[in-house]
Amino acid sequence: MHKSQPAGGRTAEKGAGLRDRFNRRIDYLRVSVTDRCNLSCVYCSADRQRSCFSAEQLLGTNEILRLVGIMAAHGLRKVRITGGEPLLRPDLEQLVEGLARLGVPDISLTSNGILLAERATELHRAGLQRVNISLDTLQAERYRGITRGGDISRVWRSIRAAQAVGLNPVKINVVPVRGLNDDEIVDFANLTREDDLHIRFIELMPTGGSRLDTGRRYVGSAEVLERLGGLGRLEKLPRPPHSTSRNYRLPGARGQIGLISPYDGHFCRTCNRLRLTAAGQLRPCLFSPKTVDLLTALRSGAGDEELEELLQWAVALKPPGNDLAGAGRCAIASMAQVGG
Ligand code: SAM
Repeated sequence: MHKSQPAGGRTAEKGAGLRDRFNRRIDYLRVSVTDRCNLSCVYCSADRQRSCFSAEQLLGTNEILRLVGIMAAHGLRKVRITGGEPLLRPDLEQLVEGLARLGVPDISLTSNGILLAERATELHRAGLQRVNISLDTLQAERYRGITRGGDISRVWRSIRAAQAVGLNPVKINVVPVRGLNDDEIVDFANLTREDDLHIRFIELMPTGGSRLDTGRRYVGSAEVLERLGGLGRLEKLPRPPHSTSRNYRLPGARGQIGLISPYDGHFCRTCNRLRLTAAGQLRPCLFSPKTVDLLTALRSGAGDEELEELLQWAVALKPPGNDLAGAGRCAIASMAQVGG
């Protein structure tokens, strides 16, 4: 926990919402519910991920719900559950149900899709609205290689199950990596012609967990757009407020294509999010090592007021931008630990 409160933090009264020093309204929480994963994607982690934490160090569902409840009283509108792989948590349905009961209007999930098909109905019934599924190749053997052992047919089963139960939209996260899957950019885009999927190309970011040479393997959004040039005129879609992606549609396509470009910093200007790690640390920015320790406070009997102060502290610590091109390059220890 930080010793001194940063100057200039601006927070509003309960009900009026949280605002940071740059007058950004903070109403979005990404919650990592575990740092464990059942895959081990080559650009995300160095090897198969075991938890860095003991079970007791991870936030319990009731603890997460207590923190979200406090944020909800300050205008929280959106929660995304991530990890690690969130479906490794057996009580995910209870968490989603609890979030819905707290009145969080927008509840979404990011998953690798290996275990989603069997639980999609129950999660939707509990209040889950949308899902992002990570899939970096359309080729079964290549998928096995990238994920170090994953079965792509299970992911497709989950994508279809998510669509069937009414999780909408279903977004597919693709990280193009030079020499690994960048020859499939057009194939992914072509999926959107007949299928109402949102394909999102996310620029590769440097993380401590990866052994890839990010500099050499990086494929920028501009290059992705250029490669899509042969598919016809891309219609630029209006950008929803706070959206991290620039969105397009191929002529006559049912689905969409999104480009997520963390390096150009465009979405920092309207950043509205905080991240809660699986071990109860509130992180003001994915690329900043600063955290505020909520776990210790929770477990030492802090009242709601004290937790609110810590929350406001984290909001005040939000930097203006991610500095990914500079010092921020090495800031993310592991996507799975912080919650990608
Ligand atoms: N296990 C879940 C999944 O696979 O979707 C959630 C966690 S995963 C860390 C969340 C997202 O982070 C995935 O879409 C993954 O592709 C993305 N990601 C991981 N490492 C990344 C990196 N180095 N650069 C860009 N995106 C990354």
